[in-house]
Amino acid sequence: MNKIAFNIDNFIRPNVAKMKPYSSARDEFKDFDKEMIFLDANENPFETNVNRYPDPQQRELKTILSKQKNIPTNQILLGNGSDEVLDLIFRAFCEPPIDNIITLPPTYGMYSVLANLNNIENREVLLDSNFQPNLDEISITADKRTKLLFICSPNNPTGKLIASEIIVELLNTFKGIVVIDEAYIDFANAESWIEKLNDFPNLIVTQTLSKAYGLAGIRLGICYASTEIITVLNKIKPPYNINKLTQQTAIAQLQHTEKIKNDLYSLIAEKEILLKALVEVDFIKKIFQTDANFILIKVDNAEKRYAQLLENGIVVRNRSSQALCGNTLRITIGTNSENKKLITILKTLKQ
Ligand SMILES: *Cc1c(COP(=O)(O)O)cnc(C)c1O
Repeated sequence: MNKIAFNIDNFIRPNVAKMKPYSSARDEFKDFDKEMIFLDANENPFETNVNRYPDPQQRELKTILSKQKNIPTNQILLGNGSDEVLDLIFRAFCEPPIDNIITLPPTYGMYSVLANLNNIENREVLLDSNFQPNLDEISITADKRTKLLFICSPNNPTGKLIASEIIVELLNTFKGIVVIDEAYIDFANAESWIEKLNDFPNLIVTQTLSKAYGLAGIRLGICYASTEIITVLNKIKPPYNINKLTQQTAIAQLQHTEKIKNDLYSLIAEKEILLKALVEVDFIKKIFQTDANFILIKVDNAEKRYAQLLENGIVVRNRSSQALCGNTLRITIGTNSENKKLITILKTLKQ
């Protein structure tokens, strides 16, 4: 293990290491039991439910997540979607333009967008034909300035989990920070890597309420990591990055654990039904194994089938431009009636 070798201080950008966080009015005064009169933040005193700034540390929401995930609140950072979390990771650890990152296409497009935005070189190492990382290539590609390695598991758009032996190997050998994006982990038959945070100081796990929790509209991404990493990210995040409506909605929805679980099971069951039905469609050449809430299929002519589905009122995602994904469509699991409609239409499409 690289427990000794990894020192977070070697990864923090010098400007970030030097800076002091912005101290907001709400940061300074928070722990008073007594009813206080707040005349410190130039807010409007008339009640609208949102006339006050939100809690910059989202303590109530983090306490709930902490209990549900069995992880201390100081190992949690929340973002305006995972996208903000990922951007903060770039800003904290990657010095433009000299540092670089490694991504493993075909994968989630935001890593490369954020690399470009932050002026950081993105070194792409293609997954192998089983959609698993190529360890030798990754080790050849990494150098002293490789700060981050992004692993999306289950991966988007392939749908497949990355094998745990491979992830362990990467955590032990990669000399930078390994970011595991678990946006789809709840759909998979696998443990989250947050269980292993204490074993690997170079591990960051991101999750989101956008998929399994049905809350894409409130924009809430979650980052789990060592307290050292969380402290750095906390220092540079915008003070009020999680708005009050988002915090309130997340707090309310996270209590509905039974409903979340039932919806999740029903989507997984729907996926099995859809997988069986897709086998009977002639122009579908391959159905990729999936651990997520979507199915990647290879068809005879992706552009044509995409257009035909659109004409019939169904929008899927054409992933053909992605590496190793020629002529593929990515289909999200919908409700039972949506999926039935999809199947009916797929079966009537002309050759
Ligand atoms: C959908 C998705 C996310 C979620 O992003 P949010 O900004 O939290 O909505 C993150 N990573 C991957 C791979 C995704 O597909």
